[in-house]
Amino acid sequence: MKRMAKPAVHPYVSPWINEEIQLFRKNVKRFIAEEFVPNEARWREQHRVDPEAWPRAGEVGILCTDIPEEYGGGGGNYCHEAVVTEELCYAGVHFGHGVHSIAAHYILSYATEEQKKYWLPRMATGELRGSIAMSEPVAGSDLQAIKTTAKRQGECLVINGSKTFITNGWHTNLIVLAVKTDQSEGAKGISMVVVDTNGLSGYRVGRTLEKVGMHGQDTCELFFDDVRVPAANLLGGVEGRGFYQMMEQLPYERMGVATGAVATTEQAVAITIKHCKERMAFGKPLIEFQNTRFKLAECKAQAHIMRVFLDNCMERLNAGKLDATTAAMAKYWLTERECAIIDECVQLHGGYGYMMEYPITRMWADSRVQRIYAGTNEIMKELIARSL
Ligand SMILES: Cc1cc2nc3c(=O)[nH]c(=O)nc-3n(C[C@H](O)[C@H](O)[C@H](O)COP(=O)(O)OP(=O)(O)OC[C@H]3O[C@@H](n4cnc5c(N)ncnc54)[C@H](O)[C@@H]3O)c2cc1C
Repeated sequence: MKRMAKPAVHPYVSPWINEEIQLFRKNVKRFIAEEFVPNEARWREQHRVDPEAWPRAGEVGILCTDIPEEYGGGGGNYCHEAVVTEELCYAGVHFGHGVHSIAAHYILSYATEEQKKYWLPRMATGELRGSIAMSEPVAGSDLQAIKTTAKRQGECLVINGSKTFITNGWHTNLIVLAVKTDQSEGAKGISMVVVDTNGLSGYRVGRTLEKVGMHGQDTCELFFDDVRVPAANLLGGVEGRGFYQMMEQLPYERMGVATGAVATTEQAVAITIKHCKERMAFGKPLIEFQNTRFKLAECKAQAHIMRVFLDNCMERLNAGKLDATTAAMAKYWLTERECAIIDECVQLHGGYGYMMEYPITRMWADSRVQRIYAGTNEIMKELIARSL
């Protein structure tokens, strides 16, 4: 079949891309290609990145990119964070910088000036590896039901309980921990406490959990047995603010997931187009079958719409105007599209799409959790529905 000439295209460029961002992206891309990609398969095998990856990431400036310079951060905005997330997704590397950033933002928003100056610069260098520990065996979506307690004893908080599914769990030494400071209350009984785990008695990391995908990332259980931390580590200084702090910070976390969804989808579509141009069936490349072209056209159009929606949300986030409802829409809709499109891409790969040695297969397995963590998509719909 004679193929029609390609029409002229004027590729969409996100409005937040400027020269400075392009240069930053180039450096991030090179760093990931040179220092992360060669280790990626081994990291997947061992279920975590090497500890040295953290200080190296700090050295090249990909940690805390949107934390102000006065606290050791990059002094950028969410665009810089998005570039790091995107480049990791394009390269198929799972490194917990996003969760690290979320923990840093809790500290930036609610810690005292002294605490910010103490913790944030060490997070930016990778000496401290952040995590956010909310979920428990008994409570994930229903965070009001958490059972981990922190009881005041003089100048200390004594913590007892356990957390599960904690990203960066093996590497972390600075946990932003959700606890109950008043068990008789629901949301009002929750507080966030910063736990510096270095040499901390009673703290233990449990199993690194065997996941369906995202094998390079350490996801663990954490245990707290009469763990004593200074009462001053209570974020915001007042008990009972934790639930509201989580609700304030979750839109930022959800944007991280949404950004990864768009980048992974773009990459999936790109590699599937390449595969369909190279793979022959019935004497011609797969791309010459109308079904293949139509499916790829659908995927490409949808990935484009995803990008435009994400850009709009990013603009609002940078302007401090991203509301919880829109962030929930982004997390819900972009991850649903991500999974549907990647599934289509797997189909277009045929049997190769089911082989773990192919990136599309790993993307398919990795992306499934996007609809579950950072609040399930059902919970996102609940949040959106509250605005009806
Ligand atoms: C790989 C991975 C990494 C994670 N990283 C972290 C982390 O770093 N920190 C952290 O704190 N947590 C983390 N989590 C936990 C994650 O946020 C929870 O798994 C998620 O919030 C869902 O909680 P759950 O697993 O307890 O499911 P459940 O709450 O038991 O939900 C089960 C099902 O019921 C549905 N459901 C629950 N309530 C409602 C409702 N009101 N209306 C409709 N449907 C409902 C859910 O949508 C879901 O389909 C991670 C999870 C995974 C898998």
